[in-house]
Amino acid sequence: MKFDLLAETASTFPADAGLAQGRLVVVRDGDVEKWACLACPGGCGRTINLSLNPVRRPRWSVVTDFWSRPTLLPSVHQLNECGCHFWIKDGCIDWCQGGRPTDNSSKQGRH
Ligand SMILES: [Zn+2]
Repeated sequence: MKFDLLAETASTFPADAGLAQGRLVVVRDGDVEKWACLACPGGCGRTINLSLNPVRRPRWSVVTDFWSRPTLLPSVHQLNECGCHFWIKDGCIDWCQGGRPTDNSSKQGRH
């Protein structure tokens, strides 16, 4: 089974230090999903917090499959210096063209 990320749920916001690579933490309060938190997979060390709150904009939605592999919609586009732009589909990071930090581009060949 192929994946870069697995989802887990938490009832409280994770501390930055508690976010490991390869984890997408869904913070839920009762039945309400509030945040999706992950350490930026671009290796920049940023914590990415995405609002799942339906009354906020922007908002994202997360669905997880039987193996806890998350699919996130829409894409994550970091507008800060991190600049990462990627999709999460079935637990796999799908980088947008130019959305990957250049110092990491040697890790993975171009498609
Ligand atoms: Zn990044």
